[in-house]
Amino acid sequence: MPWLVGFERSKVNWQPTIDESKCVSCGMCMNCGKKVFCWENNHPIVAHSNDCVVGCSTCANLCLGNAISFPKIEEVRNLYQENDIWVKVKNQLLNDNIIK
Ligand code: SF4
Ligand code: SF4
Repeated sequence: MPWLVGFERSKVNWQPTIDESKCVSCGMCMNCGKKVFCWENNHPIVAHSNDCVVGCSTCANLCLGNAISFPKIEEVRNLYQENDIWVKVKNQLLNDNIIK
């Protein structure tokens, strides 16, 4: 997958933040396929923020305590526009015959 087409993931401000006062320890966030969270002392912590899939918010959507938040998606969209990431991703998808 082209993904960020060489753009540094660490420069994209997209990762979950947990409000510990709201967390009910339901464990749903631990179902993240990218293993962004670790479980410590009966609570999740954000352990690998750069592994979070840019634009994903599944953990927040399923969190029973409504305890997970993300930066504003508009900032990510602006970053994609300013750095031609959308154009580069589309070109890479075409080159890889993923889209035609
Ligand atoms: S947003 Fe998606 S990839 Fe990121 S931590 Fe949540 S479930 Fe995992
Ligand atoms: S999904 Fe939300 S409430 Fe459940 S453990 Fe994770 S942060 Fe806490």
